[in-house]
Amino acid sequence: MASTHSCKSTEHGEAWIVKEDDEWHLNINHVATEQNLEENGYLEEESQTIDSVVLNVLYCPYCGERLSEGKDETIPSFTFHDFSKW
Ligand SMILES: [Zn+2]
Repeated sequence: MASTHSCKSTEHGEAWIVKEDDEWHLNINHVATEQNLEENGYLEEESQTIDSVVLNVLYCPYCGERLSEGKDETIPSFTFHDFSKW
């Protein structure tokens, strides 16, 4: 069984969906643009990750494909990582 999901939408930007510990996780990275670098002295280079969020999902929110077979519910949760400051 595939442990990653990709579709047209996940090809854009830094988004990917992987299965971890029996749960599907949607990962999205927010990457720095030139403007972000000008506004935030902590950032060093373009396309470095500014922050990222990981959410548990049952379906792909972009194409609607069901990811978790036999699982109808989950406990909504997310983790957030901020890399834009020390
Ligand atoms: Zn999808």
